Amino acid sequence: MICPLGQRSRGWRCLQDDSNNSVVEVRFHFSICASCDQRVRCTKAAKAPRVLKLRPMAQHQALQAARQKQTTVEFQAQYAPRAGIEGTISQGVRVNDLRRSRYIGFAKTHLQHIAIAAAINLSRLSN
Ligand code: SF4
Repeated sequence: MICPLGQRSRGWRCLQDDSNNSVVEVRFHFSICASCDQRVRCTKAAKAPRVLKLRPMAQHQALQAARQKQTTVEFQAQYAPRAGIEGTISQGVRVNDLRRSRYIGFAKTHLQHIAIAAAINLSRLSN
């Protein structure tokens, strides 16, 4: 891989990330990056060189294709109706811990979901 300043990467290696997904790590040369005046645009590390973590090729290409598709007018028109509910789900997840059930069994979990929905409605009402 070649960086924006034309420096070649030092090496690539396959490894697992923290979520146990396969990634390809691309490292650049320490000595070159250390003296580069553009490093603030490449890395947040104080001294370490630029390191990229990429998905394997098939996943990377699928991700790029999906991102490209998301820029189309057709996709945005199709997605627009979801905009409201995505905010509501996000509020449930972030504020009310919607991802976890505090109870065992569908009936109690369903009751928890209803309580969370009521809490969101009350919160919005008060706002
Ligand atoms: S910090 Fe390293 S990777 Fe980034 S532009 Fe400079 S030489 Fe290239």
